Amino acid sequence: MDAKDIAQDFEHVLFTADQVQDRITELGAQIDADYEGKELLLIGVLNGAIMVMADLSRALRSHCTMDWMAISSYGSGTKSSGVVRILKDLSTDISGKHVLIVEDIVDTGLTLSYLVQNLQSREPASLEIMTMFRKPEAITTDVDVKYVGFDIPNEFVVGYGLDYAGRYRNLRDVGTLAEHVYR
Ligand code: 5GP
Repeated sequence: MDAKDIAQDFEHVLFTADQVQDRITELGAQIDADYEGKELLLIGVLNGAIMVMADLSRALRSHCTMDWMAISSYGSGTKSSGVVRILKDLSTDISGKHVLIVEDIVDTGLTLSYLVQNLQSREPASLEIMTMFRKPEAITTDVDVKYVGFDIPNEFVVGYGLDYAGRYRNLRDVGTLAEHVYR
């Protein structure tokens, strides 16, 4: 669906589907260049990263493999606490592999910080992070995100894999919801 299909629920569009796709193409080219001659393992964080993973992996012009982790992060309301539980672990052994974590959004960075620690202990050859969106607070955390789609304001956004109450993941555009949706 597009923002116009749910115009009554929407406040404003931050990025159109075309803007998102253009940025994915740029990031794909950068990642291809950085990993030339190496086989990359993309690790997607379910559920939010499904769209980014699908598009980024297809934007790459070199081989890659993919695996998934599902985690639940406890928090109050829309903020995470950094207390993370693994709901689905990887199916593959990542030791000695070049791993790129594919994230939808980094807010406080607490979830990512946990993930990095967890994956680092499995001794990959290298470990980097790509996120489609990053909020200002994340910049102050000690997690080094190598590839960022867009830095965004400190607002709750939906679309392109990001949900509110399970909905809006299938929205092509990315933006904020009208006040009445939360009531
Ligand atoms: P962090 O641990 O970085 O604070 O939170 C990361 C997770 O919180 C993301 O993977 C995502 O699930 C959720 N999240 C943070 N900000 C937003 C947002 O603006 N919209 C949506 N839908 N989820 C968000």
